Amino acid sequence: MQISTTLVTAPSRVRQATFVALAVCLAAIVAACVIVVAGLTTSFATAPFSPRVEDGHIPEGAAVSLDDDHLPAIGELDPALLGAMREAATAAAGAGLDVPVTSGWRSAAYQDWLLGVAVETYGSEDVARQFVATPEESSHVTGEAVDIGSVDAQSWLSQHGAEYGLCQVYANEPWHYERLIEPGEVCPDMVPDASSQRGS
Ligand SMILES: [Zn+2]
Repeated sequence: MQISTTLVTAPSRVRQATFVALAVCLAAIVAACVIVVAGLTTSFATAPFSPRVEDGHIPEGAAVSLDDDHLPAIGELDPALLGAMREAATAAAGAGLDVPVTSGWRSAAYQDWLLGVAVETYGSEDVARQFVATPEESSHVTGEAVDIGSVDAQSWLSQHGAEYGLCQVYANEPWHYERLIEPGEVCPDMVPDASSQRGS
C-alpha cells in the first residue's frame, strides 16, 4: 500500500512542479513586457522640448539688451560679433535708438525645436527652412548671429552696420545680423533666405 501510494503521487508532483515553473516563466515575460511598455510611454511623455534660458531662450516680448550677458543668449555670442554690436548700439543710442535683441546664441536643441515648430506652422520642411536653419547650419547655434527687435534699429543697421562689420544676411530677415566683414568693408550680397547657401 505504501509503495502504490508513492507510485501514484510521484508523477502528479512532477506535473505540478512543471506547471508552477511554466507559470513563473510566463509571469516573468509579462512583467518584462509591462516594464518595456511603461518605459516607452514615459519617454514619449517626456519628449516635448521646452526651451529654457540655458538654451538661449528669450521669452516672447522680452527683448534684452546687449549688456545682458548674464543671459546665455547674449553671453554665449561670439566676442567679435558682440563687440561690434555693442559699438553699433552705442552709436545708435547717440541717434536716440534702442537696439533690443530678440534672439542671440541658441543651443542646438533649441534650434532643432524652432525648426520643428516652423515645419508645423508652414506645413512643409522646404518652406520652414526658408525661415529657420537646421542646428548644423544656423549661425545662432555658433553664436554668430543676432536678431534685432526694433524696426528703427534694423533700418539704422542697414545703413550703418557695415561701418562696424555688421551685415544683413538674408533678404527675407531684416532683423538678422552677422559680423561678416571688417569694419568699413562692403557687405556681400544678401542671399534670398535661410535655405540658400551664403554667396561668396
Ligand atoms: Zn536670426
